[in-house]
Amino acid sequence: AGLPYIVGNWKMNGTRAMLAEARAIDRAASRFPGVQVALAPPFTLVNAMREAASDIGVGGQDCHVQASGAFTGDVSAALLADAGADFVIVGHSERRALHGETNQLVRDKAEAAQAAGLGVILCVGETEAERDSGSAETVVTDQLAGSLPQGEEAAAKLSVAYEPVWAIGTGRVPSVGDVGAMHRAIREKLTATYGEAGAAVRILYGGSVNAGNASELLAADEVGGALVGGASLTAEAFTAIIGAA
Ligand code: 13P
Repeated sequence: AGLPYIVGNWKMNGTRAMLAEARAIDRAASRFPGVQVALAPPFTLVNAMREAASDIGVGGQDCHVQASGAFTGDVSAALLADAGADFVIVGHSERRALHGETNQLVRDKAEAAQAAGLGVILCVGETEAERDSGSAETVVTDQLAGSLPQGEEAAAKLSVAYEPVWAIGTGRVPSVGDVGAMHRAIREKLTATYGEAGAAVRILYGGSVNAGNASELLAADEVGGALVGGASLTAEAFTAIIGAA
């Protein structure tokens, strides 16, 4: 389903000085036309990164469900699009856990983003306790049932990122077999939801991806790319992952 999609999530990191890394990542991306590369910096850098780079997608890490209004501190999908963003990440586990975001809210955000013309990367993933109790697949397919955007074109502008919470920033990754099994379960849910269009939705793996494990993880069943945190913050580390894709 399309080119491998390698996305860097900078989380709450990224001063203007780091635009130099984005420029270097952009140059690297132009050397790998067979890979689709994107970065999601903090809101403060979206527009500057869009102006500084030409070969990568630029996106936000969250958006509000409304297009505008009295919502102090929030940023809408329409404002992101106006700043030059191509996509937005919704439902990251850090927002689900630290901001109490529910599946319904995540779904509303995904639909608002698509209505504003943005692509959506929808994140799902189980905690360590859920993995240990054997309920990982149920947890993830329930998250999808509650948060997948609905509508005519929903599948066309969608990627799903499977990010086990216990693998984020820990240096631990699931086995290739476990990644493949989860991605197959996600694919089944996507085709059950969207029919044929669900077969083309890219499913990214995220959680402690680095240059050393990227090629193995990207070769797992139904893995169409990676959502990378820490290892996307420098051009050196992120370029090695792009090269492995
Ligand atoms: P790390 O790559 O730092 O584990 O973060 C993964 C992640 O949460 C990307 O969204």
